[in-house]
Amino acid sequence: MRDDNCIFCKIANGDIPSKTIYEDENFRVILDLAPAAKGHALILPKNHYANLYELPDDTASKVMLLAKKMATQMTEKLQCDGFNLVQNNGEVAGQTVFHFHMHLIPRYKDDNQEIGWNPGNPSQEELEAIRKQIAE
Ligand code: 5GP
Ligand code: ZN
Repeated sequence: MRDDNCIFCKIANGDIPSKTIYEDENFRVILDLAPAAKGHALILPKNHYANLYELPDDTASKVMLLAKKMATQMTEKLQCDGFNLVQNNGEVAGQTVFHFHMHLIPRYKDDNQEIGWNPGNPSQEELEAIRKQIAE
């Protein structure tokens, strides 16, 4: 369940030191080395899954419960004003480390950070075509 060439496998399992803010048998939560804002952290499963598609359902459930717990604790301790959960899959979506991870990003009124997208403006017909493509 580990990939010897994966840096997050090594960090999650303690072979490479990290600033750990939480650990249990399945996960390690570490501070990001290049934070978007103060306290930016990453939830790493100890097993290697490249992305969301590979994540077993029970691990996926646990990730969200842990994200909620960490966001609550971090908001209280850091006194941040908001919080982003971010999870990238695939290079085109911004994934740079191919071991599943969930970003925990505390937000502050004056952090001058942008985490977002350029909003589109599809017609009702276009929305309906997309709805059909996905749902039917
Ligand atoms: P991604 O772009 O794949 O969603 O996010 C990868 C994140 O991992 C980035 O925010 C990057 O700063 C962080 N990162 C990459 N290598 C390391 C490392 O060796 N240690 C830590 N703590 N964070 C890392
Ligand atoms: Zn890995």
